Amino acid sequence: MRKKIFSKFAAAALLLSLAFPLTANAEWLNEELGPGEAVWVDENSPGGQATSQSPVYEHSENIIIRVDPNAGMGDEVSSTPDENTAVSPDTTGNAESVASESAESGSSESGESAVSENTPSEDATAQEDTAAQENALPANAVMSNGRILYLDRPMIALTYDDGPNPKVGNRIMDKMAQNNGRATFFMVGNRVASYASEVQRMVAEGHEVANHSYSHKYLNKYGAETIRAEVENCNTAIQNVCGVRPSVMRLPGGNKNSTVLANVNMPIILWNIDTRDWDHKNAQKTINEVMSKVKDGDIVLMHELYNATADASDYLIPTLTAQGYQLVTVSELAKYKGVTLQPNRVYYSF
Ligand SMILES: [Zn+2]
Repeated sequence: MRKKIFSKFAAAALLLSLAFPLTANAEWLNEELGPGEAVWVDENSPGGQATSQSPVYEHSENIIIRVDPNAGMGDEVSSTPDENTAVSPDTTGNAESVASESAESGSSESGESAVSENTPSEDATAQEDTAAQENALPANAVMSNGRILYLDRPMIALTYDDGPNPKVGNRIMDKMAQNNGRATFFMVGNRVASYASEVQRMVAEGHEVANHSYSHKYLNKYGAETIRAEVENCNTAIQNVCGVRPSVMRLPGGNKNSTVLANVNMPIILWNIDTRDWDHKNAQKTINEVMSKVKDGDIVLMHELYNATADASDYLIPTLTAQGYQLVTVSELAKYKGVTLQPNRVYYSF
């Protein structure tokens, strides 16, 4: 099956590599992201070597620092030391294969449900272990996305828009793994097939894959049909590569009007701390913006486009963690702050 999937990806990647420079770049150049910013992240050279061209787990010795190896996502990928340290196409292939099986099962509506594509006996063992560990948890603590969260301690959601973009995203995930943090990646649908391995890593390591429209159109400029298609096609694109259908959406540019709000049909997640990393591309400014404002329940906006944002994250993730902030996904933040997310509603923090 892996071969079949791979060739499907390869064909899609080839098509994308031909179409991408002509269409997507032109569109992105019109965005607030800054002139030409989208060009460099487009690794789909006309040569067509689009999919998984860089080793996804190049820092894999640092990735897995788990409190609970059985309750987390992607245990199939990372359950043994040998697999953790493997820097090879096999590791990537394994992740791809696992995620693809999830996709084909058609049953994955959330990150949690994507976890258990094991054999029944593996599932039973994992459930017993998870149950045992949950029983052993201290008061006010829960297992979530493979690590313990303390409900009486502060939580914040670091969010990264406009990916996937492996050069930046893998650095963020490396640092998150070292600190038991989880991020939310609001991704542009027409990019995900080109970077399937990175998206699969997000799922495997407990991050939230989220919708940022299919082609980063400012939806307030369009009618109902286009808005619905942008949302739906992004969800489908993400689900196709990783098996998880996003449950939250962020509007490109944050632009909304009544037509947008009526037609997105997902919870709309904006932010309350805007680092403006796309504007200054300065790690220190991003750090200052976050550290000067951060408090429990915040949603921080950054972009998975810039090395400066990865640099800032290298500092922010361990520093915030050391200060007692638990780095959680948007859906975790809502859930553990007692908010039931509703479609067509806008959220800025929890
Ligand atoms: Zn964006």
